[in-house]
Parts: sequence; structure tokens; C-alpha cells
Amino acid sequence: MKVIQTIAEMRKLRQRLLEPVGFVPTMGYLHEGHLTLVRKAKEKNASAVVSIFVNPTQFGPQEDFEKYPRDTERDLAMLKTAKTDAVFMPSAEEMYPANSVTWVDVKKITEHLEGAARPGHFRGVATVVAKLFNIVQPDRAYFGQKDAQQVLVVKRMVADLNMNIEVIAVPTVREPDGLAMSSRNIYLNPEQRKAATVLYRALNHVLELWSEGERNPARLRRHMLDVLRSEPLAVVEYVSVADPETLEEMETAKPGGLVSMAVRVGKTRLIDNMVLELKPRLLPD
Ligand code: AMP
Repeated sequence: MKVIQTIAEMRKLRQRLLEPVGFVPTMGYLHEGHLTLVRKAKEKNASAVVSIFVNPTQFGPQEDFEKYPRDTERDLAMLKTAKTDAVFMPSAEEMYPANSVTWVDVKKITEHLEGAARPGHFRGVATVVAKLFNIVQPDRAYFGQKDAQQVLVVKRMVADLNMNIEVIAVPTVREPDGLAMSSRNIYLNPEQRKAATVLYRALNHVLELWSEGERNPARLRRHMLDVLRSEPLAVVEYVSVADPETLEEMETAKPGGLVSMAVRVGKTRLIDNMVLELKPRLLPD
């Protein structure tokens, strides 16, 4: 496994990698969710490249950039086990030289949900992903459905800017009690960790109502809120039943609809979602 820190070295190595190349961008502090993406990339491509870069431009001024968890040694050991071919881990200066002034700004779909709650977040995401795509030049790129809006933003950017890359969404990997895996779960103390399962419980409740035929989004949102508010440690930021194309709230809940939420447990901000399907599921078969 090659570990690379500069753009020039990454470009050089890219010429020697067997094709097709699968790519998994991450911010490190890896868990089983990330590794599932890496395994998919390795399974479907001749080479797998992973980036580890805590991207400063996607964090708001009051957010957790400084204290975002980092453990490079552990990450590299995990990636080696997953048979990663190359790890690209540039410095912030390498990615954002002082004279850089160009941004990728995906409009409309970033006005809702995470984009509304975290102004500037998706501008940072789209910009760094575009840069990483230009540096790594993958054939396929793998993203987690855990960050459903991010998948849509990256797909939109790839289509709008005519990037020749296939973007693949991978289902959310969960802890045994249903909590979606996230690097930020480490912030939770034991009591908060228990409370954090309320997001999964809320999704399951919506799933049940949907399966019984409930199609009124306001009622689905209301029930989600009721479950979330039954947990004293949870503070709800938003709940949503959105059109998967526009991310606007749906008038009637339909298959394909994106049910999502952002909830604070203590200082930790957690997100989770599921897609309404004729037979929706929260766990893989
Ligand atoms: P991050 O390091 O949080 O930026 O995540 C890197 C990639 O891993 C993103 O595409 C995430 O959506 C994905 N990811 C994070 N958590 C999970 C999870 N629990 N299941 C599946 N993918 C995930």
C-alpha cells in the first residue's frame, strides 16, 4: 500500500495503477462504514485509492474542525487490511495554497436539509471532491448513503461539469443497535450513546407507518418528531420527507422519498436517513 502526501506524487502513481480505479474520499478516523466503501471499490475495480483529508472548507466557524477525531496510524492499518492500493493524505496547504480562489458551488439542492443547517458546507464538499477527482482521476467513486444529500450533490456536480466518473452510493452501515456508524460517535458519552439510538427508532417508526399505508408527509414528520422528543437528551434540528430530486418537502410521500433528520445529542450533531421504497429496509438482507 502506497501512502502519498503530495499531488505531484499522486499523479505519478496514478499512471501506474491498474485500471479501472475506484476511489473513496474520507476524512479519516475510519470505521466499518468506510471499510465497506473501500471493499466495494476494491471488489469492482482493479485498484482502490482512499483519501484521508479533514477538509477545513466544509466546516463552519463554530463547528468541530479543530477537534475532529484523527488517528492516522490506525486508519492506515485498517486500509492495509482492506487491501487498499494507495492512500492519498495531503496537508491543508497542499490542497489549498494561499492563492487559491476557485469554488464549486452546486445550487438549489444545497438550499435544503444539511445545506440549510450548515451554510457553506456543500461548497466546501463539492470543491474538495472536484479537486480530489482531478488529482486521483478515478473511474468510479464510492460515497455512503449515510450522507444522502452529499451523494446527490456529488452526482449533480459530476453531471453538470461533465466529469467522466461513475458515482456509486453504498447503503448505511449500522452498529448492532441501529446507530449509523460515524466518526463523530466517539464524542458520545455512554448515556448519550444509548440516547443516540433514537434516530434509528424514529426511522423504524416511519417505516412501520409507511408500510401500513401512511402517505401524509406531515403526519410522518410528526410521528418522527414524537419519537425523537421522547428522548430527553435529543434536540431535533430538522425532520424531513423530501423529493429525492429537488430535496423539497414532498406533498405526498412516494417511493424514492428521502426521510431524513438531524439531531443533537449533547454537543454531537447526528444525521440519519432512509429512502422510502415499496418494501423499505434499514438493514441489508
Ligand atoms: P467521512 O469520513 O465522514 O467524510 O465519510 C467518508 C465517506 O464514508 C462518505 O462517503 C460517507 O458517506 C461514508 N460513510 C460514513 N459513515 C458511513 C456509514 N455508516 N455507512 C456507509 N457509509 C458511510
